[in-house]
Amino acid sequence: MLQQTQVSTVIPYYRRFLRAFPTVERLAKAPLERVLELWSGLGYYRRARLLHLAAQKILREFAGRFPTDYGQARSLPGIGDYTARAILSIVYNKPYAVVDGNVARIVARLGAIKGNINQPKFRGAVERAVEGLLSHRRPGDFNQALMELGQTVCLPRAPRCVACPLRKWCQAYHRGEPESYPAPRPRRAIELRYLATAVIRSIPAIGQERAGRVALMRGLDEGLLGDLWNFPAAFGASRAEALDRLREKLDRIAPGVALWEQRDGLVARPAPLRQLRHGITHRSIRVDLYPAEVRGVPIGPLRWFSLASLNRVAVSQLARKIAAAAGEVDSPRN
Ligand code: SF4
Repeated sequence: MLQQTQVSTVIPYYRRFLRAFPTVERLAKAPLERVLELWSGLGYYRRARLLHLAAQKILREFAGRFPTDYGQARSLPGIGDYTARAILSIVYNKPYAVVDGNVARIVARLGAIKGNINQPKFRGAVERAVEGLLSHRRPGDFNQALMELGQTVCLPRAPRCVACPLRKWCQAYHRGEPESYPAPRPRRAIELRYLATAVIRSIPAIGQERAGRVALMRGLDEGLLGDLWNFPAAFGASRAEALDRLREKLDRIAPGVALWEQRDGLVARPAPLRQLRHGITHRSIRVDLYPAEVRGVPIGPLRWFSLASLNRVAVSQLARKIAAAAGEVDSPRN
């Protein structure tokens, strides 16, 4: 959960998750839908899917106990080199050094190692240095101590060198330029995308109250958020392209659904009722909400959800945002 997510955000999710799945077996036997529900809001859902698969493999192949062997640990879904080393050293006291961003920063400063974390040469030099320092008696404590030092003392900006127990040996400190190590990593460019979204409501039967239901489908677009419920949507390089792609998508998956025109007469394109902004990894997304209505039977991959139920199902963060905005947006026919 902590991968790419702050501790303060994770804590309530972590507690709820462990209440629901107190053992590997309970997690392994839970439906994926339930796991995703408890993850809903944390983002990066791939982590939840892999955790679930790993629990199933641990139950199936390792009698419900996390393996003590590095090769076996690496065979688990979602367990890469870093996680295997962290678990084996911290839980089983095996002599594996762990290099995360914090550790790399400390070691680069200690040895005045040039370069940035994306460069294999820099990583190699840092890993060799950490291996040389690793305590073989208490590798788990050593790894956690370095991580902690990086989080609390050897900060990326304005490191607290005066309070640092390693100051005596730190070359960057003695050179008077601790912040120069490591070099900043080149940033990935943020990509601006447009997303057209259909907020499809069910038409109530004559004499019935408006049900407040919206139609959702699994996945967003371009392979994103595949396991989560989302409003039907399509990306484009411009507003117009996104809208065209959404219309094509609706024609394909739900031919009975048409986006409303805003006014009577010949309106070439419907105007969005609301516009939102959202970020997913390196995408900065401008989201347009287009209203639509359909008679109350699910069509194709669409399923009906009441707006009130969306807190209890595995919907994406973006879908929640759209639902909150859609709740304020009334039908233009009313
Ligand atoms: S002396 Fe300063 S730069 Fe060096 S390891 Fe300690 S906090 Fe980091």
